[in-house]
Amino acid sequence: MSAPINLREQTQASLRRPFQLLIDGAWADSQSGETLDVVNPADGVVIARIPAANKHDVDKAVLAARRAFESGPWATMPPGERAKLLWRVADLLEARKEEFAELETLDNGKPVMMSKMVDVPGAVAALRYWAGWCTKISGETRTVDMPGEYLAMTLREPIGVVGLITPWNFPLMAAVSKLGPALAAGCTTILKPAEQTSLTALRLGELVVEAGAPAGVVNIVTGLGSVVGAALAEHDGVDKISFTGSTAVGKSLLSAARGNLKRLTLELGGKSPTVILPDADLARAIPGAANSIFFNSGQVCVAGSRLYVAEQHFDQVLEGIAAVATHYKIGPGLDPTTTMGPLVSATQQDRVLNYIEGARSAGARVVPVGAGVAKQGYFVQPTIIRDVNPQMRVVQEEIFGPVLVATPVANLDELAALANDTIYGLAASIWTRDVSTAYQLAKKIRAGTVTINSGPIAGPNIPFGGFKQSGWGRENGVEGIQSFTELKTVITAL
Ligand code: NAP
Repeated sequence: MSAPINLREQTQASLRRPFQLLIDGAWADSQSGETLDVVNPADGVVIARIPAANKHDVDKAVLAARRAFESGPWATMPPGERAKLLWRVADLLEARKEEFAELETLDNGKPVMMSKMVDVPGAVAALRYWAGWCTKISGETRTVDMPGEYLAMTLREPIGVVGLITPWNFPLMAAVSKLGPALAAGCTTILKPAEQTSLTALRLGELVVEAGAPAGVVNIVTGLGSVVGAALAEHDGVDKISFTGSTAVGKSLLSAARGNLKRLTLELGGKSPTVILPDADLARAIPGAANSIFFNSGQVCVAGSRLYVAEQHFDQVLEGIAAVATHYKIGPGLDPTTTMGPLVSATQQDRVLNYIEGARSAGARVVPVGAGVAKQGYFVQPTIIRDVNPQMRVVQEEIFGPVLVATPVANLDELAALANDTIYGLAASIWTRDVSTAYQLAKKIRAGTVTINSGPIAGPNIPFGGFKQSGWGRENGVEGIQSFTELKTVITAL
């Protein structure tokens, strides 16, 4: 194991401390003592080890969370106290922002510039947003249409013990976007981060303990999804799973959850269209389309991975996107000048390269853009694929890498059908100067978020989720907090 030498001392110290499970307020190795290697995607070097938990560890964590929910102070304490705790975690995270940014980059590969500008401040802001919700969860009064006099009201109660399963593309933000609303609602939690990127979640656990969370309120159990995630999803002691990840795993949770009919929120995959109309402002649309697919090396659920351009602008737009790509500085994320890092793992790199090769074999034209990439590490050069047909796998399936599939459109009446020609429905972007055209197309596109003259935008107060096979339910905003509550109706005869 070795740590890159240009890390700040705080990050080196963080890497030297053991990474352990957080169960019932205490740190421990996995019951089996087994671990998983954590690899730096920029060079393939092992930088740390995390516990590979098993079903027994999950049982212990669920028991602790259940005890904390049923008899601990968490669900019944004044909500303002929960708010203070979330706010303290935000302050502690902000105080260690440089360390968390470096850890995130080491673990995931993304440019440290981005970890510092997006991931860590985004997580701090989200914690503060959710802290605000603690005191604002409320029900309603309703009229009873019966003879006699009644007072009918609804209460929002915490759903109970919740399992939070997160992916590897925005590890800290994903953890916070589930922990924040779950804790604000008064739930107790078991967080299972992705096996490739558990470091910041485990260090976040330190901050939760330091902030004074009662034992069992936040448990963090690392390991394989097929072991830890599956055990959580099947567990009768878990009342809800909030899952973000692939559609394939999301579907497997349906059967896992059926034993106790646990609630499910599913934030799944996408194959989102970017649509550039004839009257679009190309000076904005071209960089918008490029960043929409190349940001975070394309490992974004809402990435604009399918591009539909009015035929007359097609070549100009592709040339423009290629020109934007030449400005990306591709390299190790820890280099402060890097703007595009490697993919998260060798597996993901293989998967993306296989899609590119498959498209070439199927007769599409593959156009690498921007600079070439190093052989060491899990880099993939930004790529545009053109001359495709709608049946090709690269048009239909989520690639989750820096690969744009581009199609010229002659008949604009077909745009909505083309945009909707996918099993997914997560996001879409429309570029046009005509607000009426934009709204009409936005109404026809079956996606959870449609942006107009902008790439994807998200935030803790903006509802987020998918149509079709991109998911169930919504995260963020009032919908996000409500998804961690049960609605109870209380009727009193007066
Ligand atoms: P993934 O393979 O589905 O994994 C997501 C999480 O589920 C990981 O923690 C994983 O654990 C765990 N898991 C794996 N098998 C499981 C099982 N049988 N039961 C329970 N949990 C299991 O997805 P990924 O490759 O990490 O992430 C990429 C996918 O996430 C893409 O499809 C992307 O679109 C989607 N995503 C969606 C959103 C959204 O908000 N809609 C946001 C980000 C990403 P291990 O990793 O430890 O195996």
